[in-house]
Amino acid sequence: MDHHAEHTDATRLDAVCRQFSNAFGHEPAAVAQAPGRVNLIGEHVDYADGIVLPIAIGRGTMAAAAPTPSGTSSRFCSEGHGEVAVDLEASLAASPQIGPTGGWQNYPLGVIALLREAGVAVPPLDLALTSSLPIGGGLSSSASLTVSVAAAALAVVGSDLDEFGRARAARLCREVEHRFAGVPCGPMDPAIVALAREDHAMRFDCRDKSWLHLPMPNALALVVFDSGVRHRLDSGGYASRLRSVQAAASSIAAPSLRQLLDDCEGSPEKALNRLAAAGLDGPDVRRARHVLTEVARVRAAAALLEAAATDPTTAATLGPEFGRILQAGHHSLREDFEVSTPELDAIVEFAVAHGAFGARLTGAGFGGCVIAACPQGEAAAVAALVADDFASRFGAPCTWFVSRAAGAAVSQRR
Ligand code: ADP
Ligand code: MG
Repeated sequence: MDHHAEHTDATRLDAVCRQFSNAFGHEPAAVAQAPGRVNLIGEHVDYADGIVLPIAIGRGTMAAAAPTPSGTSSRFCSEGHGEVAVDLEASLAASPQIGPTGGWQNYPLGVIALLREAGVAVPPLDLALTSSLPIGGGLSSSASLTVSVAAAALAVVGSDLDEFGRARAARLCREVEHRFAGVPCGPMDPAIVALAREDHAMRFDCRDKSWLHLPMPNALALVVFDSGVRHRLDSGGYASRLRSVQAAASSIAAPSLRQLLDDCEGSPEKALNRLAAAGLDGPDVRRARHVLTEVARVRAAAALLEAAATDPTTAATLGPEFGRILQAGHHSLREDFEVSTPELDAIVEFAVAHGAFGARLTGAGFGGCVIAACPQGEAAAVAALVADDFASRFGAPCTWFVSRAAGAAVSQRR
């Protein structure tokens, strides 16, 4: 479990190195690891220039890499996803915009391509990957993958994320999703994976890309539940939400709903009045209301963490207040944004019934995971009861793990 993270990391690094040498018959020159992430609050606001509050988690992607001995064709293998030979030069020459139809190899291919565009002389690589994240489960396996590959590739050429620039690496990995995987994701995921600080949440402003590390208070223990239901980001639900949010901003000729909110002194009510006056109606109103109230919730949650860091007397009220924000966030995602599922709703309901301060779906929705904030020391007991209830209702238990806020991606040469 995650409180044995260091031991587990060493074991997992050894395992990815063994996988590398078994697959390719030589030893890796560098290894890297990158966490997944869970967003505490601030869902579906990243493409509205909003503010988010993620943490990195103690699960992630391990990468081992070395230059391909032949010097020509790259070979990528990922545990559970098979091995592919990629003629790097031919693929990159043929189509720099690879798009959504390709397989998972587009992610590492894109990272290498964009590192080269950035002037890093990455040679054709042999690359082995393992992941302890659910894939497509809303914990950002994709950003964990791209950032781990970037870190490993930089280490192969004698550099690292710090030298390249962590924020720059995050921008590069976002562009990989856009250009090579056809996923129009926001800037949050690679940012937290590349920039996280251990035991801290990160308030990240998706408009100016600034960030602030906020200590996670001891009073909160976090559990991640996986509903087992899988979303598909490239299917219609995400695109239609994106269109609604953009339509709402265009209706009042604002560059984003975030800008509208700022113009209304941060008041979601005033912002909604302006949208109503401009004639916005139908589901777009509810989608906009989610985004506007969610940004206000992120501000409130970040303020609670800031207060806890400077004023220990707030510790007693912190848990319940933080929990109420999570609950309100889930309600908004369920009713206004309509991205929840019966499984996610049930986990939230059970978690609160068994003593969590609050819980909400995390990630894009349509399946995926729930984050619950529990009193310190009670997280595992709450989670076990939730899994039982879930099994009674749906026939099989949901999986879960307790996670501290983990650190950012790192690499080392072998
Ligand atoms: P999320 O990032 O929430 O887990 P996405 O849909 O953004 O979900 O990304 C999932 C995709 O990322 C997978 O379909 C696969 O292409 C790729 N991926 C992530 N991790 C791995 C891995 N360890 N090995 C191979 N592909 C991976
Ligand atoms: Mg992703």
